[in-house]
Amino acid sequence: MHTSPDARWDVIVVGAGAGGMSTAIFAARSGARVLVIDAAPEEGGALHLATGQLSAAGTRLQRAKGIGDTPEEHLADIVRISKDTADRELVWLAVSNAATTIDWLLDDLGMPVLPEHPVRGQNHEHYSQDRYYWGPDLGRSILAAVRRPFRELIDNGVISARFGTEVVRLVQDPAAGGGRVTGVATAAGEEFLGTNVVLATGGYNADPALFQEFNGVPAYADASYRFAKGAGHKLGVAAGGYTRNHDKYLCSFGSVLDSQQIPAPVLCRPVHWPEMRMPWELYVNVEGRRFVAEDEPSVDVREHALLAQTDLRRYIVFDERILREAPPMIPGWSAGDIRSRAGDHPMFHVADDLATLAKAAGIDAGNLVATVEEYNANLDGDDPLGRVFRPLPVAEGPFYAIRVQGMSITSTAGLAVDGDLRVIRPDGTAVPGLYALGELLGSAAFMGNAFCGGMLATPAMTFGRLLGTGILTW
Ligand SMILES: Cc1cc2nc3c(=O)[nH]c(=O)nc-3n(C[C@H](O)[C@H](O)[C@H](O)COP(=O)(O)OP(=O)(O)OC[C@H]3O[C@@H](n4cnc5c(N)ncnc54)[C@H](O)[C@@H]3O)c2cc1C
Repeated sequence: MHTSPDARWDVIVVGAGAGGMSTAIFAARSGARVLVIDAAPEEGGALHLATGQLSAAGTRLQRAKGIGDTPEEHLADIVRISKDTADRELVWLAVSNAATTIDWLLDDLGMPVLPEHPVRGQNHEHYSQDRYYWGPDLGRSILAAVRRPFRELIDNGVISARFGTEVVRLVQDPAAGGGRVTGVATAAGEEFLGTNVVLATGGYNADPALFQEFNGVPAYADASYRFAKGAGHKLGVAAGGYTRNHDKYLCSFGSVLDSQQIPAPVLCRPVHWPEMRMPWELYVNVEGRRFVAEDEPSVDVREHALLAQTDLRRYIVFDERILREAPPMIPGWSAGDIRSRAGDHPMFHVADDLATLAKAAGIDAGNLVATVEEYNANLDGDDPLGRVFRPLPVAEGPFYAIRVQGMSITSTAGLAVDGDLRVIRPDGTAVPGLYALGELLGSAAFMGNAFCGGMLATPAMTFGRLLGTGILTW
């Protein structure tokens, strides 16, 4: 790679994920001398793992399908879903420029999306319009598309890139412009100097201590990109910036982990969306009590209900008849698969009676017995939690309990920036020369204390384009 520590770069991009690659591509095309540095052996970041759901209003694909949609409606949906807890300025910057990003990906870079797309939603609270897109290969569909121009620019010597190189410090000149950031230093002791430094280092989910500190809950799941260790958060804070939105953590409605360890890999993800499969089972907390109507249509309501439970944990409780008669609950798993793990895997429990089941699973036994008795007795009347779909009692042994862990795969808190993506100090002034984008800004900036579909990957690339085509100067 053509990197010279002595050169002065127009733009130094730290991190080559969705945000960093986009910044580098657009800045280089605008004539900047760009250096990209990434700790990983290759580009892509979280796109290697991500579902890659994107969202944008006013795209060419929407228009071709006759869908009238506007950024104003996208913003309104995010305000509605997040109960106005997101950062309106950053959300507007993202959604009012998102269509151009999607058009670039789909039309200019040829990224394929599924034929029925855009759609209204999946996994997260639905938008009011069909503005949700993803490719057949999920996050890797985005990676394949963006990597092509990124690699071409590297191969042609227009972008210089260093992989396997960790940035550990920002070079700051206290004399010049209030602590202007003038470069970066690597773990190997090299320094690279530049006019603009863009932090695009992603989240912090792969650092359990930082996860606990920022979110106030343990990092239960090991499901994030392994280089997402919060480097940009630390670098930005050391340069005078600060992190925000620590109070907006939200967990998903949960996955089954493969062990009791913290963090543990995800084993499987039971379907809990009533629109995909109505729940035949009960959901109880560690105390053995139901805490939400299992067929509650709002995933946001279900997630916030789980967030309030001990250890963000719920148990799916059912009996042999439900296992036999209900449609599969875990994608790709038969009833036999569940039976064979029950009693044999730390998250799958089985017993001939509910009290024994509760003891094996770590649930309050007296309460679980009472909860199931109450549920069965009420089947012909109103459910106390308002559940409507109640096809069978939980009555025929053996009884089962599957432990499900509320968790998160993205980072909630983030480095504070202003509307020009400049890293800011607590007093609101910018750290000169330092910019940030992508998941480093935190999901809460774009979604508040909720999950809004496509509002991490799309803003990451959108902000990269905005930085490279106008915000940055050199
Ligand atoms: C399983 C999963 C599913 C997801 N699904 C979706 C989805 O459907 N829709 C959506 O919008 N978002 C989704 N996301 C989130 C989304 O993919 C990410 O937020 C987005 O890709 C992040 O891009 P980024 O460029 O900000 O950071 P990253 O992709 O994390 O890239 C950061 C880069 O910085 C590098 N780096 C880190 N530290 C250093 C350092 N000290 N020095 C040099 N380099 C460093 C890393 O190696 C990495 O390459 C998902 C994430 C996961 C894990």
